[in-house]
Amino acid sequence: MSTIKIDLYSDTSTKPTRAMRAFMCEAEVGDEQKGEDPSVNALQDQVAELLGKEAALLLPSGTMCNQIAYAVHCRAGDLILMDRTAHPLISEAGGAAVLARATMYPIDGDHGMFTPEQMAAVMEAPTRYKPPFRLVCVEQTTNKPGGRIWPLEQIQAVCKMAHERGALTHMDGARLLNATVATGIDPKAYAASFDTLWIDLSKGLGAPIGGVLAGSAAFIQEAWQWKQRIGGAMRQAGIIAAAGSFALDHHVDRMAEDHANAKRLANGIAGAPRIQIDVEGVETNMVRFDVADLGVSSSEFGDLMLSEFGIRVSAPGPTLVRLIPHLGITETDVDTAAEAIQNLAKKLAS
Ligand SMILES: *Cc1c(COP(=O)(O)O)cnc(C)c1O
Repeated sequence: MSTIKIDLYSDTSTKPTRAMRAFMCEAEVGDEQKGEDPSVNALQDQVAELLGKEAALLLPSGTMCNQIAYAVHCRAGDLILMDRTAHPLISEAGGAAVLARATMYPIDGDHGMFTPEQMAAVMEAPTRYKPPFRLVCVEQTTNKPGGRIWPLEQIQAVCKMAHERGALTHMDGARLLNATVATGIDPKAYAASFDTLWIDLSKGLGAPIGGVLAGSAAFIQEAWQWKQRIGGAMRQAGIIAAAGSFALDHHVDRMAEDHANAKRLANGIAGAPRIQIDVEGVETNMVRFDVADLGVSSSEFGDLMLSEFGIRVSAPGPTLVRLIPHLGITETDVDTAAEAIQNLAKKLAS
C-alpha cells in the first residue's frame, strides 16, 4: 500500500490535535446515563445554546442523530421527504425503514436544494391510499452535491411550506457550521425554522467522535429513550464530549481556512487539460472535478494520485473526483495537490 502524504479524502480524516487530546485528558467525567457527566452536560448545553433550542443530546454519530430524529417524529408508514442526494438515502444503510419504519421520499433538487414549489407538487394530503408526509429534511451543507449552502430564505420558505402541510422539519446539519462560517449567518437563524437539527463533531470540527442532536425538551426526552433502546447510551462519555466542546471553542472560525484552501485548490486545478471543474461551485470545503474526458474512471485517477504522489482523494461518482481540505491541511499541501493533478492530467491527456 502506498503511504499517504496528503490526505484529502474527507473532512472525516481529521485527527484530534495535541491540544484537544490534552483537554480530553483533563475532562471531568461521570455516568452520562444518569445525567452525571459534567462534560457531556456542558457540551449539550453549549450546543442547545448555539442552535437556540431548549435541549440537546450527545450521540455517538451523526447517523444516529438522523435515525433517532426519524424514530421520534415518525409513525410506521410515514413519508420523510428529502433531496435524492441526501446522506440518509445513500449512506445510512436504509435505517429509516428499519428503526422508524418510514419511507424516504426523494425529491430532485438543484445541487441538493429543493423549492416549496417542488414540495407542493408532491405533498398531497393523506388519504386512505396515501401516507402522510411526516417530516421534511434539509441537508446543510449539501454533502454529495459538493458542500453547497442552502440560502436562508429558501430554508425558511421550505420549512414554512412543510409546516403548512402538517409536516415537521429536521436539518441534517452535519456541516451547518461550515455554512455559518462561510455566510456569517448565526446558526440560530438557520436553526429557527427546524423542529430538530444536529451538528457533527467528527467532520471539519476535528473531534474524533460524535454528533449532537437538538430540539425541544420534550423531543430530547424521547430521543433519550431511543438512545438507550438502540445502545447509544454511554457511561463516562465526557472524554468524547470534551473533544466536542474543545472543537466548538477552537475549530469553528478556523474552518474559513479550509474554505480558502478549497478555493485555492480549485483555482489551481482549473485549466488542467480535459478536467471539468466548476470553481464558482466551491462554496465551502469541497472541491470536485470530472475526469471523464481523460478516459479514466475516478477510482483509477485516485489510485494514480496515491501511487504517484501519495495524495489520497475520493471518488464519489464514476468519473467524479473529490478533495476536502481540513484541519492539518496547509496551503502548501493544496498547492502540491493542485500541481500533482495538473501533471497527472497532462500525462493522461497526451
Ligand atoms: C457524515 C454525514 C452524516 C453522518 O454522520 P456520521 O457522524 O458519519 O454518522 C450524515 N449526513 C451528512 C450530510 C454527512 O455528511
